Amino acid sequence: MLRTHTCGELRMEHTGTEVTLCGWVQRIRDKGGMIWIDLRDRYGLTQLILDESKTAPELLQTARTLGREFVVKATGEVIERVAKNPNLPTGDIEIRLTGLEVLNPAKLPPFLIEDETDGGDDLRMKYRYLDLRRGSVRRNLELRHRMAQQTRIYMDGQDFIEVETPVLIKSTPEGARDFVVPSRMNPGEFYALPQSPQTFKQLLMVSGFDRYYQIVKCFRDEDLRADRQPEFTQIDCEMSFIEQEDILQMFEGLIRHLFKNVKGIDLPEVPRMTYADAMQFYGSDKPDTRFGMPFVELKGAFDTVDLTSGKAFPVFDAAELVVGINAKGCAGYTRKQLDELTEWVKRPQIGAKGLVYVRYNPDGTLKSSVDKFYSEEDLKGWVAQFNTSGEPCEPGDLLLIMAGETAKARKQLNELRLEMGTRLGLRDPNKFSALWVLDFPLLEWGEEDGKPETGRWFAMHHPFTSPKPEDIPLLETDPGSVRANAYDMVINGTEVGGGSIRIFQKELQSMMFGKLGFTPEEAKAQFGFLLDAFEFGAPPHGGIAFGFDRLCSIFGGADSIRDFIAFPKNNSGRDVMIDSPSTIAQAQLDELKIAVK
Ligand code: ASP
Repeated sequence: MLRTHTCGELRMEHTGTEVTLCGWVQRIRDKGGMIWIDLRDRYGLTQLILDESKTAPELLQTARTLGREFVVKATGEVIERVAKNPNLPTGDIEIRLTGLEVLNPAKLPPFLIEDETDGGDDLRMKYRYLDLRRGSVRRNLELRHRMAQQTRIYMDGQDFIEVETPVLIKSTPEGARDFVVPSRMNPGEFYALPQSPQTFKQLLMVSGFDRYYQIVKCFRDEDLRADRQPEFTQIDCEMSFIEQEDILQMFEGLIRHLFKNVKGIDLPEVPRMTYADAMQFYGSDKPDTRFGMPFVELKGAFDTVDLTSGKAFPVFDAAELVVGINAKGCAGYTRKQLDELTEWVKRPQIGAKGLVYVRYNPDGTLKSSVDKFYSEEDLKGWVAQFNTSGEPCEPGDLLLIMAGETAKARKQLNELRLEMGTRLGLRDPNKFSALWVLDFPLLEWGEEDGKPETGRWFAMHHPFTSPKPEDIPLLETDPGSVRANAYDMVINGTEVGGGSIRIFQKELQSMMFGKLGFTPEEAKAQFGFLLDAFEFGAPPHGGIAFGFDRLCSIFGGADSIRDFIAFPKNNSGRDVMIDSPSTIAQAQLDELKIAVK
């Protein structure tokens, strides 16, 4: 070993010992009589010191040739610091140098390698190996490592076995496009990279493995929305001889184990909400439950009294849904603030036509932006509705109301609710609120490129998801209302995992493929192996997969998953460090029998 200690471990009890450290030079301060060097490695930072009057000239000379990021080996005595640094774990001591060897000089790095850096995103990505030297990024990967370790401990403890499934496979439909790999040995034929190991894990259940998991790379060729990666990692799991309740318990257990063992947090029992309630009360299938602010309908399907129609306010009269939230304590918002909020919901990203507000003044009076149409008596009715179906309103509150077609109005109010949550400081990234969302619809109607003639039913989760047995008859009469035995886990308004109880009978699976527009021949060509397997004793089974990168970013209190991936791709799916994707040589193309236009 070139070193006796790391740069993170020396403390007062080490004073008087001779040590050798290796690392990178983070900073040098040369004050003439004294030179200080901050030496960094994976474990921390230690200050080295040279006192000109007491140091050999050669040593001083070596020290004066150092630059940032030089790799050095430093030997000296641990001494107590005169000016201690309470912000640094090694801040009580420093090393009085007696030896210094440059192991490798370094070019000046293109950005500051410190927690707070001056490097922009692009530069940091191009020199990711330097970015990874920064403590803040390194700590994210350390967290990721602990998450993976603890996942394995929990899963192993529950008798799950980790089985690797292949990466060169055939398309598994999870709703995205496949990445494909040409086969040289089979010209004109392609492998697909797995969007998930879905069919393999189901086959492992047929094989009798009973409890499977894998921390596994998955690939989806999607148009990259912000903070998506074309390759990402899942904790992928499957179990046999279980019902939905068993899965919920088992994986709530995993999440609580992770919170406990990685963050020292006792996560309370995870509450549950149906998809229908999530949509009605939060306008989203992944509500952020760190705060309340539920939706209250003043006109809509769930309303017993229609509180807005027939008052000659055309917007509400025409609307399918009139729905609001209570922004607690915001009655004091100025006209300017309210105008700004109205503009905010009208931005194209939200797309609302407008925003109606009601101020519940501290003196108890009610004042709205639609006073022309609604009397104070009417507004009292609204408040009463909030009191019965939402969170009680009090003087000082502000009701924010939107209207329109149901799905749109809900989506827009969801955005506004999240925005108000943020503005009111209710979305602390270091607070955690988990939720199960249950009973998703089995199917959703979709069109390709907005062309009505291409309209058909799509599996909301994937084609292997089982309908709720009691809803199976509806598959013929009202497919859109069939509920699935499917569930998502949501933390802080982000979907971190999802899964379902699977179909395990050949007839039902064939019927499902039929509903999704596959001819029997197409179903056989694509999934014949699975349908065959279901004839050889498939057990009832189900599972779930967690987005591991996302889970890590939430545990790290961060918005972006990128900093929890060692070598991520940018928003155009490029790795700018290795410059990929890239063209390949003609000879390679020829070998693959691929003609590039
Ligand atoms: N394969 C599914 C997914 O990737 C998860 C599951 O159903 O287990 O979303």
